[in-house]
Amino acid sequence: MQARVVLHLHTNHSPDSSRSVASLIKQCQTLGYQALAITDHDTMAGAREAERLRPEPLVIIPGIEVTTTAGHVLGLFLTRAPAEQRWPAVAHEIREQGGLVVIVHPLRPSNGMSEADIVNHRDVIDGLEVWNPSNSPEGNEAGVRLAAEHHLIRSAGADDHDGARLGRAELIFEVPELTLSALKTVFQSGHGRVMMDGEEI
Ligand SMILES: [Zn+2]
Ligand SMILES: [Zn+2]
Repeated sequence: MQARVVLHLHTNHSPDSSRSVASLIKQCQTLGYQALAITDHDTMAGAREAERLRPEPLVIIPGIEVTTTAGHVLGLFLTRAPAEQRWPAVAHEIREQGGLVVIVHPLRPSNGMSEADIVNHRDVIDGLEVWNPSNSPEGNEAGVRLAAEHHLIRSAGADDHDGARLGRAELIFEVPELTLSALKTVFQSGHGRVMMDGEEI
């Protein structure tokens, strides 16, 4: 079956969003998504609340956006919030619990990771956002280039805080069943299709 997956979502558990988990779930259901990664800033409280509220068969990918010493990083498929914020120690902590490390909005001046911090620690990175509607065109282009040069999984993140960017970035996975482990396997295979404003890139 085909699963439409939206990664990198914020709720009112992030200081920069006032949207409730319930309304986010409703918005995503209206758009027809099968799986959502809730990744609030430095907390898994939003993901936990979504796991409690989720209507079947919607899958919640438990995640977090960690403010690391080198920029923002997503941890996906987590069981607990990482305690570490130093880069790259946080990546080791995410991987030790079976999670995946995804660099978001690369090269964004305020809080995106630099090319050097990505390249120097490529061995602890799983994926990289090649499309984030809140990143600059230069940042998104750098993401495409770095993912190709360093064989990183191409990811896309809505980075949505209020509904305005929902629908602009998603991944399409072919999965045998709609479960967390099936979604993780396809993500890791790099076979997810990356959609930018409805067009595959
Ligand atoms: Zn961020
Ligand atoms: Zn974000």
